[in-house]
Amino acid sequence: MTGDTFRILMVDLGNGRGNVITLEGRDSVAGGSGLAALLFSKYGHANKPWNDPEQPLIFTIGPLTGYFPLMSKTVCAFKSPYHDQYAESHGGGRSAFSLRFAGLDALVVTGKAARPSCIAVGSRHLEVKEVHYLWGRDLYTTGKTLRGMFKGAGHRSILRIGPAGENGLAMAGINVDSYRHFGRLGGGAVMGSKNLKGIVINGDGSFPLDGTKEYPKLFQDVYTKLTDTDMMSKYHDIGTPINMAVLNEVKMLPIRNLQRTTDPTISGITGEKFAELALLRNAACAGCPVGCIHIGFVREQFRKEHRYLYRQVSYDHEPIFAMGSMLAVDNCFAVLAIIDTAERLGLDVMSAGVALAWATEAMEKGIISEKETISKLSFGDIEAYKQAIQHLGEGKNEFYRLLGQGTLKAAEQYGGKDFACVLGQEMAGYATGEVFFVSEALGLRHSHLDSGGYSYDQKEKGKDPAQAINFLVKDEQGRVLLTSMVACLFARGVYTDALLSDCLKSVGYSTLADSLDTVSKNIQQLRWKDRISTGYRPEDVTIPKRFLEITTGKGPIDPAYLASLKEQYAKAIRVMAT
Ligand code: SF4
Repeated sequence: MTGDTFRILMVDLGNGRGNVITLEGRDSVAGGSGLAALLFSKYGHANKPWNDPEQPLIFTIGPLTGYFPLMSKTVCAFKSPYHDQYAESHGGGRSAFSLRFAGLDALVVTGKAARPSCIAVGSRHLEVKEVHYLWGRDLYTTGKTLRGMFKGAGHRSILRIGPAGENGLAMAGINVDSYRHFGRLGGGAVMGSKNLKGIVINGDGSFPLDGTKEYPKLFQDVYTKLTDTDMMSKYHDIGTPINMAVLNEVKMLPIRNLQRTTDPTISGITGEKFAELALLRNAACAGCPVGCIHIGFVREQFRKEHRYLYRQVSYDHEPIFAMGSMLAVDNCFAVLAIIDTAERLGLDVMSAGVALAWATEAMEKGIISEKETISKLSFGDIEAYKQAIQHLGEGKNEFYRLLGQGTLKAAEQYGGKDFACVLGQEMAGYATGEVFFVSEALGLRHSHLDSGGYSYDQKEKGKDPAQAINFLVKDEQGRVLLTSMVACLFARGVYTDALLSDCLKSVGYSTLADSLDTVSKNIQQLRWKDRISTGYRPEDVTIPKRFLEITTGKGPIDPAYLASLKEQYAKAIRVMAT
């Protein structure tokens, strides 16, 4: 067992020093999301701006990381440049296992380095190294250089930012081991504000598997459940991009800046089409037998004598919707090429695609012109989008710098708020209806994974706001328990509360195992308290007119139902925070 107290490495970039502290609270916050919220309440500064050097950048893992499959995520928490409030973002790769094998439950970075730097941590070492020569470099060059500088291939996780993070864009993500991300809400800008280009976590320690005698059998049961169910085919075969055709069929796919919810031209960017033409291989986060990561390729001719270079690019439903259907780009290789451009710059692909969809419609309507966008944007124009992504990531002019802080910020200045597809942040790839729109707009992470509103819309025929809000609150409670264990949410059908309890008991966390309902309520409250204390007012959230103008497979959006859901969810959030 790793311990009833949390072991946390605190690093102060101001003086380049760190120390390990222990913290009580395992039985009340578990780890992951709960631990991140606890650490922010302890070390965060609600009244100071997101880029104040004293603000913490927090990474946490859970009690089952390393013991059971798919406990593979790391939770990253910070005060977000997007809204200057508490935020959480989740990433996988090797990050969670590397922290576990480095003997840490959390890494907390405060302060600001005098010059561009990176941090390397392991079970017995901490190094803060100046890397001024990496500032301005793209993610690929940065990753390659850091891999060469620090030993530990296979055990090591590398987190890094690109120019977007250095430029302080609220759409800048943190890349994890090339194919995973802490993508949303601007964690990359928080690293940039600290002059922190990369974090190398070397899992170079050992990890005693001293569970009870039930542990090996339980591990085998869990492993079998995870690999024998349809989850494997759902996530491993076509993967999440299977949603493109499914949502298009039921008129719930955001297309052309959500001007449409279905269109036959998306046949070139379905999951099936990607698998048929562009899929190279699958990959997996450490400790995951599912391997949902789909990696395709882009090929570019660099000399006329048929000389090509190629790069590997990961894809999922969300990046395909953002750089494909939202921009009316209908070719899978073109979508990968635009994703690749955004990745290199360290932009969150979803946010950037949705922002450019707004900019394209704004240009069509004459609200902005090439004076702002530099290159002319029109739906489906691949080369224009690659150039625009470059301008956005580099913060080329005032327009792109503002757009990089969020579509609504640009719309406030230039006009066009009505058709900004923003639900708390740039929308996720589901136009399923009222419950999803409200759940993403008001939810803590503004993520489609905060709660299952998108699935409620598709299954539920009635329009009872109280019933829907009750579902969102209960579903969020279940999900925060999973994210506090740092389970991948794709495993939510397998890791029931009863199974989680058995898993915890088998490795010695009996008190925690016996109080999961209380603990998950406590975590839910702690997270909302952090968000509200940093200025969130759920009742002030607005949902742009575009979301009311669409028709889904269920029919037109019902404004009265949406307004009632919004009002009741805002009230429920206030209750959860008290
Ligand atoms: S299912 Fe996918 S995202 Fe989840 S842990 Fe496995 S590889 Fe990572």
